[in-house]
Amino acid sequence: MIYVHKDMELQVKKTITGLGIEKIEQDMVLLGEKSFRGRQVFQWIYEKKVRDFDQMTNLAVPLRQRLSQSFIIGCLELVNQVQSRNTNTIKYLLSLSDGLHIESVFIPEGKRKTLCVSSQVGCSLGCRFCQTARMGFKRNLTVGEIVDQVLFVEALLGIKMTNIVFMGMGEPFLNYEAVLSSAELINHQDGISIGHKHIVVSTAGIIPAIYRYTDEGHRYKLAVSLNSPDPEERQNLMPVSRKYPLYELKKALEYYTRKSRRRVTFEYVLLKDVNDRLQDARAIKKFVTHIPCKINLIPYNETSADFQRPAEKTVQQFVDLLKPLNAPVSVRWSRGDDARSACGQLAAQNE
Ligand code: SAH
Repeated sequence: MIYVHKDMELQVKKTITGLGIEKIEQDMVLLGEKSFRGRQVFQWIYEKKVRDFDQMTNLAVPLRQRLSQSFIIGCLELVNQVQSRNTNTIKYLLSLSDGLHIESVFIPEGKRKTLCVSSQVGCSLGCRFCQTARMGFKRNLTVGEIVDQVLFVEALLGIKMTNIVFMGMGEPFLNYEAVLSSAELINHQDGISIGHKHIVVSTAGIIPAIYRYTDEGHRYKLAVSLNSPDPEERQNLMPVSRKYPLYELKKALEYYTRKSRRRVTFEYVLLKDVNDRLQDARAIKKFVTHIPCKINLIPYNETSADFQRPAEKTVQQFVDLLKPLNAPVSVRWSRGDDARSACGQLAAQNE
């Protein structure tokens, strides 16, 4: 929301980006228009990605003017972008209206075009290997600030994303309502229209939110950052595991997979000599029994001097150790190291 001084009157402009179709329809009625105009505005913003009411050519000029007196479209500005030389990953540093910064990362892989979006400014969880953790927590993002990452980058590149992953800065399940509302907007058929199977919500394991997500019946893919199958080591790497212990996480995920009939994806950052050993692979196998899942191994993107990425051979051995599992295992080499695309790197550098 911004305040504009006009004719000595203080007029409040609302950010329209982030509002759902019903809300925009109601706002149109308040402006004395037919409610179906709301759908038209919704489509201009979310489907055609215009950032100026003047481009809404199926609306009469006076209405466009009235809209631009009451609303603004979009809330992000580009501060910096870094493109990786060896992959085509592009990392965007974006500023919010209060001057804080967030990051979004565009990851093209053949036909797949993924945008990794942030859900919070900074993060409160303090995972020891993570760059965002060092910023501390600043605030939650609004629905508008989350969806505008998609609209902004799509408009900038002139392309449509095929996949959205909530794996940027922050813990999505500690900004639950805004994340789920933005996922709904990203999924909406008349708007950004990305299928629910192509939207991934990733959590460090906020257990009450996993139960809520299950009971609300959301269809987006759920990813959980496991990172260690050993309760003590996990508490050390991810302090959130002290509050939400591993055995309770297991129960929550059994509940989720049973009730939703969906698999969960485990993210597993591979840290040399910390969680890449034979006993870790054994413990993973034990942990995931009774949990239909996929496992994504992510060799550490070295952002902290305290941890190293394991050698390629160790990574391959770890994959082989997990093979007997009845679950697909894949290795996600962090893309675009030279684009500083590990979580939080660009923003931390800018602080
Ligand atoms: N808070 C959420 C989402 C943000 S982090 C969560 O924990 O799932 C997204 C993923 O990146 C997590 O799996 C995290 O463990 C991983 N990650 C963080 N820093 C990393 C780094 N430097 N190298 C590789 N993966 C990293």
